[in-house]
Amino acid sequence: MKYISTRGKAPALDFEGVLLTGLASDGGLYVPETIPAFSKDDIAAMAGMRYEDVAFKVMYPFVEGCIPADDFKRIIDETYAVFRHDAVTPLVQLDDNEWVLELFHGPTLAFKDVALQLLGRLLDYMLEKRGNRVVILGATSGDTGSAAIEGCRSCRNVDIVILHPYQRVSEVQRRQMTTVIADNIHNLSVRGNFDDCQQMVKDSFGDQSFLPEGRSLVAVNSINWARIMAQIVYYFTSAVAVGAPHRPVAYSVPTGNFGDIFAGYIAKRMGLPIDQLVIATNRNDILHRFLSGNKYEKHPLVHTLSPSMDIMISSNFERMLFELYDRDAVAIRDLMDRFRTEPVSLREDAFAKARELFTSEGVDDVRTCDTIREVFGKTEYLLDPHTAIGVCAARETRRHPAVPMICLATAHPAKFAEAVRQSGQEEDPPLPHHMRDLLQREERYTVLDNDLKAIQSYVAKHCS
Ligand SMILES: *Cc1c(COP(=O)(O)O)cnc(C)c1O
Repeated sequence: MKYISTRGKAPALDFEGVLLTGLASDGGLYVPETIPAFSKDDIAAMAGMRYEDVAFKVMYPFVEGCIPADDFKRIIDETYAVFRHDAVTPLVQLDDNEWVLELFHGPTLAFKDVALQLLGRLLDYMLEKRGNRVVILGATSGDTGSAAIEGCRSCRNVDIVILHPYQRVSEVQRRQMTTVIADNIHNLSVRGNFDDCQQMVKDSFGDQSFLPEGRSLVAVNSINWARIMAQIVYYFTSAVAVGAPHRPVAYSVPTGNFGDIFAGYIAKRMGLPIDQLVIATNRNDILHRFLSGNKYEKHPLVHTLSPSMDIMISSNFERMLFELYDRDAVAIRDLMDRFRTEPVSLREDAFAKARELFTSEGVDDVRTCDTIREVFGKTEYLLDPHTAIGVCAARETRRHPAVPMICLATAHPAKFAEAVRQSGQEEDPPLPHHMRDLLQREERYTVLDNDLKAIQSYVAKHCS
């Protein structure tokens, strides 16, 4: 499989290339040159299969030519063995024809593990073959950092450096990063805010001359194609569980950077009969506003009870735009160029297509808590705030009650106790068993000034 850039000017790459690259050199994002498709029979045959076997079937076309089938199978088996539910991503029924798909059984209790556990192993595999080492550098306000660290903790060829703002992440989130003790893991606590951390990461990618000879930086943020690829799988496993390909299915997806829901769109293109995709946002609702009025416009950031969806723009949305414009890279270049300085509107036909594929809803903190309370009252099932936004949006915008609606449960409620408290629960949801001693574990991190030179000399010294 070859991958091409949404802006059309960067060279095409193979899977290994896109795994090791973040943004394309023309500023675009890589997408597969062709989207593989399954027949109805292929999909019907997935019913009853193990998660790992569906994963191999769904993902192999994307890596073919770079990884031999047997190696890929082994990597998938190792990856999903660390999940604490044998079904990896089990479905739980909430109501008539309404389900939640629990994506939080990985080591950090959020759906990002599904992709980052695989990504870490794939990186290590490729680097071992090439005889290279790389440095993963990232900034986090909480979730992504811990999932990336857990994904890379056993990598032999990767050093991972994660910047978090000093005293501005919750204790649970900090400890999920800092209690992973290994020589290749470096938590840097920066005396600054999240934007400062992110800016230093960006600057470091722009000029990597501070690195030791032979080392380069790799990004594991949600624009990495391998992350999208891993997320396509659970659309297949869950859809066949509720009757696909013989009947259609709908999904509601708590959305930030548009990675998870874009994977759903790709699953549809690969042949799943997905009837509706709901874009569920919090008050950072650029996508909901866009879908409501064809104006893609940046607003200031709002802090909400669902912090993993607090974004101003959705980085993966460019991949969707590319499809809506029938892969016209010139049009995307123009659109993204204009978007740097002003709001943009899509061509009428492209916008009509978006409205056909997606519905959307923006859900504020009050309705988030109302939904947690209501669902718990009826079923004693406790939603995390991100998932609650998906459930609320699904109920608001559902097109056909007879079509099963699957809401993606992106985090375990214990991770976001504040929202659970505000929704009227008397006790904090307990951490799962394997994390009960998190607050007693040894931590390791280094506090540094908000200074690019200080960060870079730390990396140069510790990642040689
Ligand atoms: C990252 C994240 C999201 C948003 O996913 P995107 O792929 O960025 O749209 C939703 N919920 C949780 C808990 C997350 O960690």
